[in-house]
Amino acid sequence: MSKKIIKRSWAEPFKIKMVEPIKMTNKVYREKCAKDAGYNTFLLKSADVYIDLLTDSGTNAMSDYQWAGMMLGDEAYAGSRNFYYLWDNVKKYYGMPYFVPTHQGRAAEHMISQILISPDNVVPGNMYFTTTREHIEIAGGRFVDVIIDEAHDPQNTHPFKGNINLNKLEDTIKKVGAKNIPYVFMAGPVNMAGGQPFSMSNLKAVRSLLNKYKIKLWLDATRATENAYFIKMREKGYENKTIATILKEICSYFDGLWVSAKKDLMVNIGGFLATRDKRVFEEARNMVVVYEGLHTYGGLAGRDMEAMARGIEEMVEFDNIKARIGQVEYCGKQLEKYNIPLVYPFGGHAIFLDAKKFLPHLSQDVFPAQTLASEIYIDSGVRGMERGVVSAGRDPKTGKHRYPKLELVRLTFPRRVYTQAHIDVTVESVAQVFENRKKIKGLKMVYEPKQLRFFQARFKKL
Ligand SMILES: *Cc1c(COP(=O)(O)O)cnc(C)c1O
Repeated sequence: MSKKIIKRSWAEPFKIKMVEPIKMTNKVYREKCAKDAGYNTFLLKSADVYIDLLTDSGTNAMSDYQWAGMMLGDEAYAGSRNFYYLWDNVKKYYGMPYFVPTHQGRAAEHMISQILISPDNVVPGNMYFTTTREHIEIAGGRFVDVIIDEAHDPQNTHPFKGNINLNKLEDTIKKVGAKNIPYVFMAGPVNMAGGQPFSMSNLKAVRSLLNKYKIKLWLDATRATENAYFIKMREKGYENKTIATILKEICSYFDGLWVSAKKDLMVNIGGFLATRDKRVFEEARNMVVVYEGLHTYGGLAGRDMEAMARGIEEMVEFDNIKARIGQVEYCGKQLEKYNIPLVYPFGGHAIFLDAKKFLPHLSQDVFPAQTLASEIYIDSGVRGMERGVVSAGRDPKTGKHRYPKLELVRLTFPRRVYTQAHIDVTVESVAQVFENRKKIKGLKMVYEPKQLRFFQARFKKL
């Protein structure tokens, strides 16, 4: 008798203790909702959404350990014990001695941009992120994209599409002069490239190049744990290291970092800035009291800081991060069965649909990704988000649309929130829209806000 090898599945390292009902709606109702929301998924009421894959930002399910911590909130105006516990964990896991809490990641971006950037400075980075670039520009700086070319090609399966192209970086330094570059930033995995990580060897090479020119390097560490997971899975020499060890090594090459705690830390609100640069720390501490609150709470409640501190301990657990990225991968593999055009490799936090390929008959002027996101919502109540020409905004100098190469719809997975059955429903809906794709017409923008327009822009069907 031959022995059959049974394939062994894995499942989440947690079970459900509390449930939140979600509303089931029909297509006629959703047509109306989409129209009322100006065909912008950001403007839908959450109550009208069935499966919410808009973002993984602040939408996470906290653990019982985190909820228990919420009861231990020390709501003193100054010197809350939760602040000191969080600071200890920032030192322990990110290896940065100085720390300033903020209410969200963008508040930390605001401070770091105002502190380090002078008018006409240039800030190179591995692809733009919406709020990051906005704050660079508000501070009078200019962002220059120095990511490798592979990142702009959705079909390219390079394992580290978040890497910086060292030639592009050095050319930029030579062109504008090192003294006009206050810092270079790296984010990982790179959201706008489809959730693509950078490698440790690329990071080390960037660091040594910048040492030569005495330029600072800052990290957007919002999803750094996911980046650490990809390094463990894909980079030689890291397969036996823990996520915590890899995360700390990543941070060791940076002068400082900012974090939106609403992602990796599995909380609903929070952010921080951490650095080994005492001068930046002191300036940030002065600034935080103007914009956020005292430097020992930075716009957060004591209980929020406790949940963040405990979230840091959970985010580096291998099984936790494996289940998260495993769910994203599962969704991608199911979509492949229907030949849906996707961005490769699958990202850490999201699956990205390639809207240019999905709707090849639509030009970028009629917003294919915006259109696709609203069509999926109308089909099933699944909410994704546009990451294309609307998100890219207008060039501040010319006032023209920026036409990014990538025109994507992002299906983003909140941590520990949805089951595999929810993923199946999502996949089937995308497949249905794909079946009917030829009938889909584009959109016309009828209201456009000046800043971060994708949040509030309104559209009409053509
Ligand atoms: C979410 C995010 C930010 C901004 O953080 P908020 O908490 O939303 O203000 C910055 N960078 C990256 C990579 C993000 O994902």
